[in-house]
Amino acid sequence: MKTIDTLLAELGGDLSGQRVLVRSDLNVPLDAPAAAAASSGPVITDDGRVRASVPTIERLVGAGARVLVVAHLGRPKGVPDPAYTLKPVAERLGELLGTPVLFAGDTVGDEASRIASALQDGQVAVLENVRFNAGETSKDDAERGAFADQLAALADVFVSDGFGVVHRKQASVYDVATRLPAVVGGLVQAEVEVLERLTETPQRPYVVVLGGSKVSDKLGVIDHLIDRADSLLIGGGMVFTFLKAQGHPVGTSLLEEDQVEVAKGYIDRAAAKGVELVLPTDIVVAPEFSADAPATTVSAQAIPEDQMGLDIGPESAQRFAEVIRAARTVFWNGPMGVFEYEAFAAGTKVVAQALTEVAKNGQGLSVVGGGDSAAAVRTLGFDDDAFGHISTGGGASLEYLEGKTLPGLSILEGDHT
Ligand code: AMP
Repeated sequence: MKTIDTLLAELGGDLSGQRVLVRSDLNVPLDAPAAAAASSGPVITDDGRVRASVPTIERLVGAGARVLVVAHLGRPKGVPDPAYTLKPVAERLGELLGTPVLFAGDTVGDEASRIASALQDGQVAVLENVRFNAGETSKDDAERGAFADQLAALADVFVSDGFGVVHRKQASVYDVATRLPAVVGGLVQAEVEVLERLTETPQRPYVVVLGGSKVSDKLGVIDHLIDRADSLLIGGGMVFTFLKAQGHPVGTSLLEEDQVEVAKGYIDRAAAKGVELVLPTDIVVAPEFSADAPATTVSAQAIPEDQMGLDIGPESAQRFAEVIRAARTVFWNGPMGVFEYEAFAAGTKVVAQALTEVAKNGQGLSVVGGGDSAAAVRTLGFDDDAFGHISTGGGASLEYLEGKTLPGLSILEGDHT
């Protein structure tokens, strides 16, 4: 795979005069987008992904490139939607870069073309949300291709640096890489290097911690990792499908009834393979899903029928922490409970704390796999540096660990132009 180093070597270390289209991942969480849009615009609640995009952009700017950033925000429906404008994100990027960033109010329209052709060496512009264009996510190759043609027309070179989207076959991730000389950016390169360590040569014990709301999102990764990990710890909303599979009552907790048999299959397979599958022994429950619902701790085998499980209990959290602390490699995806509410954040906090101890002595590798887990550790006040690696892509890292081919990476492997 060609990198920015390759590009610099080919061009004698100087990118001046080159218009470089960078696919970044600026998909930050927003505070109530619809309501905020009505007043002063969306508010960024965690700028981790913007920060993670900065080094590649800085590197290109430092080499004199004219940088055009293309990215998405949220899930608009293929048409402009002010609730999902990238304008405030472009402003944040400018603050982090310490230099004004231009903003085009369209992605491939007149404004984008005008800005792209007027850009000076070392200047940065952000294009409006790429998902305001139906071609970006279209399943129709021709429609996606036509949009990719328009994107490619804005630039001379493409840098793929949006790790959170490399598992998507989308115009600004995949098709544009067949239309311009394309290289991988520093962020994607770093993410892939860490994931390679997890898949190829994990130091043992290798512990995988999974949580979050849905089992069905994590089936592929459980399936794949049962053959590779030494211990699999399961918490979060998905745990109730496993508890049900063991024959325990789960009250009104999240439950994916249609996955109970699958969960049973995993419990059996883990036992047959000698993989330690650790489920919680106690659960924090409440009568309803709300911040101030009265919380109590019950046995994981006896959740009352009118209560829902919203966090793993203290005994389970300690057990999880022990297994994690004894590991040399840990991958964690998905919070252990509804960490957004103080009363149900303790399990996630204890697990996060244990992960920091794996990385602390420099001996172990702890990887926080994107999305909600990354937001959770920051919300709970942990420093990014306390972890070996915080991935910017939850879905992408899970698909990589499932052993899937990621379109945005495989397309960079050949020379398509
Ligand atoms: P995911 O996107 O699948 O990683 O899920 C993340 C979400 O799972 C977070 O917003 C948590 O609040 C939620 N979550 C974690 N544990 C539970 C639970 N026991 N019940 C309901 N939601 C949960």
